[in-house]
Amino acid sequence: MTKDNKKVIVVGGGPGGLFAAFCLLEKGLSVELYDQMPAVGKKFLVAGHGGLNLTHSENLSEFSKRYGIHEKRFNELLQLFSPKDLRKWCEGLGVETFIGSTGRVFSHKVQGR
Ligand SMILES: Cc1cc2nc3c(=O)[nH]c(=O)nc-3n(C[C@H](O)[C@H](O)[C@H](O)COP(=O)(O)OP(=O)(O)OC[C@H]3O[C@@H](n4cnc5c(N)ncnc54)[C@H](O)[C@@H]3O)c2cc1C
Repeated sequence: MTKDNKKVIVVGGGPGGLFAAFCLLEKGLSVELYDQMPAVGKKFLVAGHGGLNLTHSENLSEFSKRYGIHEKRFNELLQLFSPKDLRKWCEGLGVETFIGSTGRVFSHKVQGR
């Protein structure tokens, strides 16, 4: 427990749950993460097998259009955590990224996986 006595339970250890847990821990909260499977991030690991497409390098206004009728909302959200922020976050974890020929952003393979 933290000094505020707050504990957050995250259900699901896919990228969504893992990232939520990471952000909560960074805020100093105590986190418990549960998954129905014995190991977390399984689908993510399968997804990363052939080269993980993390995001796209196009500018935010173009990128937001990908969300169709939710464009405006996602444009607001992406101002808070943009594709560039995602790349910076990955690099902070020691995972280098690169822009492919189509503008999509991939991670370099993590050694030893
Ligand atoms: C072959 C393949 C290639 C892909 N390539 C890419 C790619 O290049 N780029 C990309 O961005 N995405 C890719 N994806 C998609 C990506 O894997 C998913 O978008 C991502 O995993 C979704 O994350 P999530 O956390 O929302 O859900 P999930 O990864 O599905 O995680 C949900 C977790 O919750 C758990 N869970 C569910 N219900 C319960 C419950 N009731 N109690 C406890 N635990 C529960 C599940 O076991 C699971 O671990 C690919 C997917 C596949 C299959």
